[in-house]
Amino acid sequence: MTKIRVKTPLVEMDGDEMTRIIWAKIKETLILPYLDVDLRYFDLGVTHRDATDDKITVEAAEAIKEFGVGVKCATITPDQGRIQEYKLKKAWPSPNGTIRSILDGTVFRKPIMVKNITPAVSSWKKPLVIGRHAYGDIYKAVDFVVPGAGKAELVYTPAQGGEPVKLLIKDFKGGGVVMGMHNTDASIRSFAKACIACALSEKIDLWFGAKDTISKKYHARFKDLFQEEIDARKADLDKAGINYRYLLIDDAVAQVMKHPGGILWACMNYDGDVMSDMVASGFGSLGMMTSVLVSPDGKFEYEAAHGTVRRHYYEHLKGNPTSTNPVASIFAWSGALRKRGELDKTPALEKFADALEKSVIECIESGLVTKDLMALVTPRPAAHQTTDSFLAAVASNLKARLGSKKA
Ligand code: NAP
Ligand code: MG
Repeated sequence: MTKIRVKTPLVEMDGDEMTRIIWAKIKETLILPYLDVDLRYFDLGVTHRDATDDKITVEAAEAIKEFGVGVKCATITPDQGRIQEYKLKKAWPSPNGTIRSILDGTVFRKPIMVKNITPAVSSWKKPLVIGRHAYGDIYKAVDFVVPGAGKAELVYTPAQGGEPVKLLIKDFKGGGVVMGMHNTDASIRSFAKACIACALSEKIDLWFGAKDTISKKYHARFKDLFQEEIDARKADLDKAGINYRYLLIDDAVAQVMKHPGGILWACMNYDGDVMSDMVASGFGSLGMMTSVLVSPDGKFEYEAAHGTVRRHYYEHLKGNPTSTNPVASIFAWSGALRKRGELDKTPALEKFADALEKSVIECIESGLVTKDLMALVTPRPAAHQTTDSFLAAVASNLKARLGSKKA
């Protein structure tokens, strides 16, 4: 079989613990046998980040900017315990946070659906993709416990000079609480642009919900800027047949519960924090959730939504067999490769990505599943697969599929 040539380099970011073990196997059995690909490899494993004073993370992000598409393994965000465990110089910041801020990107989570797992919400037939604006609002707020009677005011002092603007929040008669929060036009616009790029990439309708009826300045600003960005891309959205809807957030929540899915739901920061967890648990398992970071100018980084699955790794180190679900990591690869194929106009590569995903889905639907899925699939299989036996089943299915050209 001749290998499919990937025209542009793909940025690969290795990671930590159990997902690192799985990563190497995916590459060895599902990717490299079939593709002639220039992988620009960045080892974001925590010890290598430590050795490079985290410069490697910045270099990886710059490479995604240059080449446009990356695929990332889950990584440790070190805390005090991890500093001791891995003898690190310090608690390096979250690589995902670093990459996200360099790309000015938004993270979209997308569930992987199979016929034998029914979502908790019976109307969900297609993936609901959630995009969370991960900047500002209560996450960058200044808040204060008001000790007793007194005035709380909002003061804006123009940098250019001129009269300050002063607004009364509350003339307290007793104790209470007060909070000042903000967002910036630039960040809201980047978020809207990334949502549009994601909707175009996934070819799905875009919803945005806020509460502008109550928050006539703050939320209304989000609504207006979102609309401006939509208008600016109207030709592209029309051409792709993508509709945009603005809804009140409570209406959006109510409608999502009766919706068949297949939409991108853009959420303000807090809504996205809450709703992404609801949607993730409604679809089943963390092992079946992928995520893609999209920058406003259309750069893409694919990864699994889960972490490094630490507990399983410790079992692996003891020499015990594990049953870790590699599906989200495999779909990170297929997502990145499909995008690469799309950008490079290599249909054979897009087909390969489809074949890889079909091989995974067919295994699960035939009852070959890792332990995390045992309670979710119907009918329940007699036994679960190990990490290795599941990967081997996917590899042999893929081989047969590509060999027989039934892809
Ligand atoms: P985790 O890796 O998400 O795993 C938490 C638990 O969820 C696991 O112990 C396992 O449950 C289950 N699980 C998650 N993914 C699974 C999979 N693929 N297959 C089967 N079960 C799965 O979170 P963690 O173990 O608490 O965190 C480990 C490290 O991950 C942390 O250092 C954190 O910083 C990092 N992290 C990284 C990312 C990222 O890079 N995107 C995201 C989140 C966390 P059972 O133990 O019950 O089997
Ligand atoms: Mg949350």
